[in-house]
Amino acid sequence: MNSNKTTPHILPNNPKDLQSIDLKSGSTFVGQGALDLSSFPRLSQEIAFDSNLKPSQVHWEMSTWFEERLGGIPIQYMHLRLAVDLPLHCQACFQPYMESLDSDRDYILFDSEEEAEEWDMDEENQDNEDALVCSETFNLLDAMEDELLLTLPLSARHAPGECKTEDLAKVTQKLKTGSEEIIIKKPNPFAVLEKLKKQ
Ligand SMILES: [Zn+2]
Repeated sequence: MNSNKTTPHILPNNPKDLQSIDLKSGSTFVGQGALDLSSFPRLSQEIAFDSNLKPSQVHWEMSTWFEERLGGIPIQYMHLRLAVDLPLHCQACFQPYMESLDSDRDYILFDSEEEAEEWDMDEENQDNEDALVCSETFNLLDAMEDELLLTLPLSARHAPGECKTEDLAKVTQKLKTGSEEIIIKKPNPFAVLEKLKKQ
């Protein structure tokens, strides 16, 4: 049910314009496009640079709509679909590989931080839409980047069976000989204890 009968505003595929959208105007918005990864500096830091693999553009689709609540003010919703291919480091064999991120989510836009938090905290809403705070200068580019960062795998890995045996062997070798990459920088608590005992 779309309570807003006016035609939606079309969002341009332009990073600057996407950084400030008036979501309090009562209008609805729709847009799609593809942006270079350079528009997402925080996400860019997560990729494997030392590889021949090149990230794809970030493909996006966004739309907003209002739904009438019984006797209440209409709720504003936003749908955001994102897709990008990123080179990441596999945590098993330490080699770069291509990870395809794909995110498809609905959000509810609240007027205040308090209302949004209340929605997120309510366990009944765990499987439902996420909450965002709506504003006259809503930064969609930031919201896209936040969502992609959340979509990154906790432990990046090749698909099962796709790590090369020789790369895995190299990692095993390094673990045995103790290369710099895996030296733990924290002071060893047992070494500290030993020192205290000797005093
Ligand atoms: Zn691997």
